[in-house]
Amino acid sequence: MNRHQQIYEGKAKVLSATDDPDVLLAYFKDDATAFNAQKRGTIAGKGEINCQIAAHLFKSIESHGIATHYIDCPAVNEMRVKSVQIIPLEVVVRNIAAGSLCQQTGIPLGTILPAPLVEFFYKDDALGDPLLTRDRLLLMELATVDQIDTLRSKAIEINLILQNFFKLCGITLVDFKIEFGVDKHQQILLADEISPDSCRLWLIGEPDPNLRVLDKDRFRRDLGNIEDAYQQVLSRVLGVKE
Ligand code: UDP
Repeated sequence: MNRHQQIYEGKAKVLSATDDPDVLLAYFKDDATAFNAQKRGTIAGKGEINCQIAAHLFKSIESHGIATHYIDCPAVNEMRVKSVQIIPLEVVVRNIAAGSLCQQTGIPLGTILPAPLVEFFYKDDALGDPLLTRDRLLLMELATVDQIDTLRSKAIEINLILQNFFKLCGITLVDFKIEFGVDKHQQILLADEISPDSCRLWLIGEPDPNLRVLDKDRFRRDLGNIEDAYQQVLSRVLGVKE
């Protein structure tokens, strides 16, 4: 039982205060949502698996010199993180066309993009998390020109680190979503989580377009074996010797 005050409950995590005002405790839930929470469910063991995957990836990213909010994991489904003001943007990086990129552009699923595509979506459920242009970002004062450049370059660096890491796991990083926050020193930190909930991950060498899926698309598209897929990602992540 956590005796500290719960300060936020999101779709996949609960954030609580700790004795230290600069530190929050994130509890990873088994709950899963998709399509702006129109589809809801539970994935057994997901909280634990995602917490462990995210912890491992944050540590790897930190070791490459990119600051994150990760501190440590006091329990398998709990992560201590630095308190930040979340920038209300979903920063999406794509290496291969999938999801909304295909729906909105007609680019066929699986097309390898000539260079990573970085996109900004407004984190606002009521508006349906719309795709933003650079000018809209500035108009809405969601970020300054400098911040946009910083977020973009950090996203590209993180993509390189994750792409290489997942390759060692025998997994292709198709795309992913990250979020950033600003700490009390005005430093931009990678925040939220990186997990099969927020990435598209395809098993290398598996030609079947359904069997290769190791991420939340299994839930979105009712492909079954969701727990097995998430567990497989964790096992592969833990097995990597960097
Ligand atoms: N994504 C996410 N949360 C969101 C929307 C997207 O984690 O609210 C991730 C998604 O899992 C995928 C990437 O961001 O890895 C790109 O998602 P896309 O824009 O294709 O949207 P989708 O079709 O998945 O809703």
